[in-house]
Parts: sequence; C-alpha cells; structure tokens
Amino acid sequence: MLLHIPTLLLALLIGFLLLTLALGMSQQAVRARPEIRRWTLGSWALLAGFVGLAARAVVPLELSVLVGNSLICLGLALYAQALHLLLRGDAGPKALLQAQPAIWLGLLLMLEWPLFLRTAVMSAVDAALLACSVSVLLRHGWRAERSLRMVGATIVLAIAAHLVRAVHALVHPEDYGDLMQASLGQGLTFLLSFVCLLGAGFGFILAVFERVARQMEDLATHDGLTGCFNRCTTDAMLAHELQRAHRGAAPVAFVLLDLDHFKQINDRHGHRAGDAVLQAFATVVRCRLRASDVFGRTGGEEFGLVLPATDAAGARWLVEAVRREVEALDVPAGGGGAPVKVTVSAGIAVADAGSRLSGDRLYGQADQSLYEAKRAGRNRVEVYGSTAGASAALPLA
Ligand code: GH3
Ligand code: MG
Ligand code: MG
Repeated sequence: MLLHIPTLLLALLIGFLLLTLALGMSQQAVRARPEIRRWTLGSWALLAGFVGLAARAVVPLELSVLVGNSLICLGLALYAQALHLLLRGDAGPKALLQAQPAIWLGLLLMLEWPLFLRTAVMSAVDAALLACSVSVLLRHGWRAERSLRMVGATIVLAIAAHLVRAVHALVHPEDYGDLMQASLGQGLTFLLSFVCLLGAGFGFILAVFERVARQMEDLATHDGLTGCFNRCTTDAMLAHELQRAHRGAAPVAFVLLDLDHFKQINDRHGHRAGDAVLQAFATVVRCRLRASDVFGRTGGEEFGLVLPATDAAGARWLVEAVRREVEALDVPAGGGGAPVKVTVSAGIAVADAGSRLSGDRLYGQADQSLYEAKRAGRNRVEVYGSTAGASAALPLA
C-alpha cells in the first residue's frame, strides 16, 4: 500500500487552515487571550511552512526547503511558548526563538545534501522542538487542565513519528528521493506527525476553554477581593446544611461577622487600606476553618460562616478565637503610616439537629445577635437565645 503524499499534504493543509480560520474568526474575547494568539500564530507558521514545502513544484527547491522548514520550526517553537503562556502566564525562555537563525543557517548548509539526509536531520530537529512543549507540560501542566494530558500524549506521538521518520530516512534512503515520492514509510510517518499536531491544537483549545469555564465558575461563586464565597453561594450552602440538620444528622451553626467602624477606617486610611483590612481579616478566618466550613462575604464588610456539625459552644469558641486574632492584627497602612487596627463583632445562631428552621430565619437570628453585639459596645460575640451576655470576657479553651 502506498500513500499519496500530495493528497496527504493537501488534507493537512485544509485541516490546519480550518483550525486557524476557526481561531481567527472566534469571538474577540477568545482571540484576546495571549496563549490562543500564540498558538494561532504557530498554526499560521506551520500552515505557511507546509505550503512552502509543497510549493517546490513551482518555486526553486532551495527556496522551498528554506522557507518551508524554517516556518515549521518557528511554528513548533511558538506552540511551546503558547503552552508556557497558558501554564505560567509568560512566554518562557527566549532560547527557542533565538535558536531560529541557527536553524536557518543549518538549512543553508544542508541545501546540497541529498533529501534523505536532510529529512533525517530536520525530523530530529522538529522532534527536539516538540520535546520542548512536552517538557513545559511535564514541568507545569500535569496538575492543570486534563485536556492538556491529551495535548501531551499527541505531541509525544508526533515526536515518536518524527524520530521514526528520521531513522526510516537513513535506513531507506531510496524512499526519500523526492518529498512527494509515494512510499508507505514516508507516508505513514508524515501523516502521523502532522495529524498529531492538528490533534494537539484541538486539545490546546479545549484546555483553554476548560480554564475559562473554571474562571467563570469562580467569578460566579466567589468574591474577587477576598476569595470568599459570594452571598448567593453562601445562602445555597446554608440551605444545604439545614437540609442535613432537618434529617437529624447534626446541628449547624451560622455566624454573621461584621467589622466595627469600618467606614472610619476607609475615611482615615483610604479605600485601599480598607480593602487590605478585608483581605487580612479573610485570611485570619480562613486559617481557622475546617474543610467543611463555608466562609462567605455577604455584604461590604459583613461575612457569613456556615459551620456544619457545630453547636453553640463550639461556634462561640471558634468565633472568640477569630475575634481575638483580629483584635491583635496589624494591617500595613501603605505609605509607611502606622498599621491599621480593626475589630469584629459577631452574632451566632444555631439550628439543632432535627430543627426545621429556614435559612432566612437562621440568618435573621444571627443578624439579631450581631445587632446585640454592636449595641453592647462592639468587638464582641453574641449567641442567639443565650443569656450568657457578653462573651468577650469568656476564657479561651
Ligand atoms: P459598624 O461598626 O456599625 O458596622 O459601622 P461600620 O462603619 O463598619 O458600618 P457602615 O455600614 O456604616 O459602613 C460600612 C462601610 O464599608 C461603608 C463602605 O464604604 C465600606 N465598604 C463596603 N465594601 C467595601 C469594600 O469592598 N472595600 C472597602 N474599602 N470598603 C468597603
Ligand atoms: Mg461594620
Ligand atoms: Mg455592615
């Protein structure tokens, strides 16, 4: 069975053309992503490289060899950069682009060589460039998007195909008298190496979209400033935990925390310092929580805590610890001023196991306790329905 190389080349050209056109015509929001732009540029370079190789029927062979191979090498280097951009946010070491003039020089020196030898060397060079992409993936992409593993696998396959092609060219030079010569070995390795690149392109786009979808999900459920859940998600999680409490599994505590005199902090130190205080506060709380606890920003400087399987005493102990830690906090004011001090007041409400309290009711009870804490002088913790009074005086266990 012989594979007709011009037909293969045409099919690959059409495949790459469709991929690059699809990327070029996608929404501005997609094209604006630097990693997509870099991959698209790489695909255009590969496409132009394939055209350059195919054009030897109509242009001088030397020009076809130089332009075709150097553009393919450039495209592969741009692919490695695109992967680095996706995974690390920068294009990575410049060595891959700096090596391009050396490749052009090498190609000039190889112009007089027989095709089989040039094919062997250029296949090895392409494999080395592809190995750079695999190295980026292995170093930074293993824990990232799952579709990147597919990209890695197809590139490894492309490397293998290029290496087999290099060895095949050396062992069967008679198959490489002409680039368009029909031969099983040349045809199969050619087909495999470039179809894999096409597959890697689709995998890469999928990985970018996986990342965009995760970012959108994060934006929809989290607060951008503090990284806490937003109000909507906190409400949903509270409702979910209340359902479990209804079934009699365990109590659930809900805590409202509100920074004291926060407006004055903004007025005195500026909004940026206020934002830093919010972030520092969120970090203090987060360090104290269990994995199952839910921490949300329910309003400007108001936060909610859903504490599953926690009774009033447990919640009070935790929130007291947070209150003391916040009281001791020194937030840098920026501009070298004195650190900003802040305190927090909290209201706790508990739904006992088997209780049929709604989220709104529990929220209202915690709000009422928070109001009590504010009224009693702030920097305090109050529990709904408790006669214990000001808990600021309670010793920490
Ligand atoms: P209280 O002790 O009674 O809670 O008084 P307070 O000043 O903390 O409460 P108030 O509701 O009067 O003011 C809240 C302030 O929080 C007003 C608003 O400008 C500020 N704020 C809300 N969201 C943000 C934010 O994201 N960043 C900053 N810096 N300030 C915020
Ligand atoms: Mg406040
Ligand atoms: Mg408030």
